[in-house]
Amino acid sequence: MCFSIKKVVALMLISAVAAFAKPTIYILATGGTIAGSGSGELSTSYTSGTVTVDKLIAAVPQINEIATIKGEQISQIGSQEMNNEVWLKLAKRVNELLTTGKADGIVITHGTDTMEETAYFLDLVVKSDKPIVMVGAMRNSTSMSADGPLNLFNAVNVAMSKDAVGKGVLVTMNDEIHAAREVTKTNTTAVDTFKSPNTGKIGTVFYGNVKFYMAPVRKHTTNSMFDITKITELPRVDIVYSHANDNADFVNVALKNGAKGIVSAGMGNGNPFPSVLKALNEGAKNGVIVVRDSRVGTGETTRNGEVNDDENGFVASDNLNAQKARVLLMLALTKTTDKAKIQEIFYTH
Ligand code: ASP
Repeated sequence: MCFSIKKVVALMLISAVAAFAKPTIYILATGGTIAGSGSGELSTSYTSGTVTVDKLIAAVPQINEIATIKGEQISQIGSQEMNNEVWLKLAKRVNELLTTGKADGIVITHGTDTMEETAYFLDLVVKSDKPIVMVGAMRNSTSMSADGPLNLFNAVNVAMSKDAVGKGVLVTMNDEIHAAREVTKTNTTAVDTFKSPNTGKIGTVFYGNVKFYMAPVRKHTTNSMFDITKITELPRVDIVYSHANDNADFVNVALKNGAKGIVSAGMGNGNPFPSVLKALNEGAKNGVIVVRDSRVGTGETTRNGEVNDDENGFVASDNLNAQKARVLLMLALTKTTDKAKIQEIFYTH
């Protein structure tokens, strides 16, 4: 009897502690303007990736009040330098932290230039439902009205939110929450640069107050088909951008240098210049996977529109922009070279 009272008290204590225990949020830092510094508050020139993760965390003491924060420096680069090696390192670390239960949520600080590509890559390869939130800044840490600290505070709140569970990788910037597949950088300098032009933002976060209004429906994280556990290299996929009076030189160089896939950022509804179309057709005949995309940036590149994809052996990109189609094609090529299967992957992921 005495034992069972002790047991009950112990259980009550454990549940009380659990109720008050703060979630553990890992901040994985990769560089970017959020970790950038310049020569003065109004200086327009600065260097990305100079401030360490410990200093980023120290600049926002409020996050320690709401979560147990742990920081790790994954890389220290401007995201224009982002590469497969860092992607694989980051993805493997995120998987490890989430699947072993070490972290309840992850925040990744990242440059804004390629944030959408990293977000989509992780969205396709992370195997957890827990929140993964990417964040950056458009104004470096030494500039007037730097947006990094509030963006970071908001990102930690999103990473702690139960409502963020199962929504894949999220991008939180400028009080908005965007889904990885949809988000893109739309302005070179403005703080409201991130938009999801085809679908809109999925939520908002206002001084830490998180609200979701929509959820992504395409396959991601736990129901995506990709697994990078054993992968150390990704296949080469190039993007070729189209324009009036174009020529096939870039396609031919890509083919000559061993590209396994080419994303054609064609005009309008994915229309390449005639000589480019011919070169792409040759590539497809020789086993290179050609994804027909558009340079427009919004809307679907529709299968068999003005270009006959069936006859040319092409894959249509659905409504992914070219940089995201490139990410998906790289991963698709780790599974198959079958064009029909790759088309299906583009319609489901
Ligand atoms: N070039 C920077 C980067 O992507 C821009 C930024 O972070 O806003 O790292």
